[in-house]
Amino acid sequence: PARTRFAPSPTGYLHLGSLRTALFNYLLAKKTGGQFLLRIEDTDQKRTVRDAESRLFKDLRWAGLHWDEGPEVGGPYGPYRQSERSQLYNDHAHQLLDNGHAYRCFCSAERLNALAEQRHKMGIATDYDRTCASVSREESDDRAYRGESHVIRLRVPEQYSAYEDLIYGVFRPLKRRGHVTESAYEDPILLKSDGLPTYHLANVVDDHHMKITHVIRGSEWMPSTPKHIAMYDAFGWTPPQFAHVGLLVDEQGNKLSKRNFDTDITAFKEMEIFPEALANFAALLGWSHSEKTDIMDLQKLIEKFTLKFTKGNTTVTFEKLHFLQRKHATLRIEAGGTGFQEMVNNVVQLLKDPDSTYKDWRKIVGSSFSLNDYVSRVIRADSENYTNANEFVYRNSFLFNPLRPTASLKEEYSSSDLPAATMKLARVKGWTKEELMAVVHEMIDSRPEGRKGAKDVYHYLRKMLTGQTEGMRLYDIMLILGRKETLARLDAAEN
Ligand code: GLU
Repeated sequence: PARTRFAPSPTGYLHLGSLRTALFNYLLAKKTGGQFLLRIEDTDQKRTVRDAESRLFKDLRWAGLHWDEGPEVGGPYGPYRQSERSQLYNDHAHQLLDNGHAYRCFCSAERLNALAEQRHKMGIATDYDRTCASVSREESDDRAYRGESHVIRLRVPEQYSAYEDLIYGVFRPLKRRGHVTESAYEDPILLKSDGLPTYHLANVVDDHHMKITHVIRGSEWMPSTPKHIAMYDAFGWTPPQFAHVGLLVDEQGNKLSKRNFDTDITAFKEMEIFPEALANFAALLGWSHSEKTDIMDLQKLIEKFTLKFTKGNTTVTFEKLHFLQRKHATLRIEAGGTGFQEMVNNVVQLLKDPDSTYKDWRKIVGSSFSLNDYVSRVIRADSENYTNANEFVYRNSFLFNPLRPTASLKEEYSSSDLPAATMKLARVKGWTKEELMAVVHEMIDSRPEGRKGAKDVYHYLRKMLTGQTEGMRLYDIMLILGRKETLARLDAAEN
């Protein structure tokens, strides 16, 4: 069983990329019967956004990604907020200091800045010259004891250990000196001068103590991984397995980011995208499966999940999301449960909104139906085309607003000898689909061109009843509008 974690920093809201990372970790844990942890990496308090944490919780739960251990649910390896674990990191930094894998660095910020600039000009890849790496332990202890400001740095090895990324394969780092990879050999800071840990230290210490077995994260963390492995080595711990997934980019190849409003989870919620559709969409970004269909809910995703990711970045196009949304809508309608009721409620709410442009639905719905039942019927009749309440009502607006053919609509047909549909349909007694079909077929058969004229008849009826040239099945329209409204619309067109 895998123990995985999602470890967001509360510096922004959940967006498509981070949802995808969380989802992959969730799926691996669930697939293997393990646990999915949530850990808040809030070591950089200056960058913390006030409501980011609560929004993260809400958005993850909305997407169905419930964590087994973490804030609000607890667990055996808590606390799960890094800001509440400072002492642990401090102890561990000192442990590395004691075994020689770390050293105190007393260089001032001014010196470091000037040094970095100078080295950069000289074409040296690392910013720091490791001056303090050679300060003796006695001198270091003494200066620290006297209160001199310092950080603690990891003493990275001359050669990093090779490691195998589950996606990218074996990574064999080059030696420290004389190579372009040298910048990776910067001695990273573990503990800052305020005694708080950096991301690197806290992340490694927590993954170890929380018994994480697999880390699935964005490929932007790949350059850090050798350093992390060096830290595991320095502590004498076995590192977890790493699986780095490519970044999400737009069609121009630009990275999708937290700052990009389009990809904030809230934007999807506001569009009434279903959580199962969004999870399905996110899962398909860079992950491949051998199923015949791409349409999968969370349960199915768990069942089918493997670590088969594509290397490199993934281009996001939103057509697929809208396709999946329609497919999941159809599934909700077929299931007829709370998911369907939620759709009905959204449409009802929109119609009842005093600012709605669909004010006259009462005239059509009449008194024989509740609005709820009426809307349910419309949604069922057009079940393949539901995206969200607004688009759905707009698409079927002729069922929610009275419609009377305009002069131009009538003119289109004035020259042709189209059937007197009003008169013929008025004879229909029961207003069932069968009876309506029989009469429409009769109309078709009496056309001069016979059956070939069927298209004209359907087109005419649709145009007169809806004002549109396409949409849901004609008989469903007549059934939903009912006898009175159907005849009234045709009458207005023909007489
Ligand atoms: N806190 C890091 C982030 O915000 C976690 C990276 C990792 O998964 O190691 O992305």
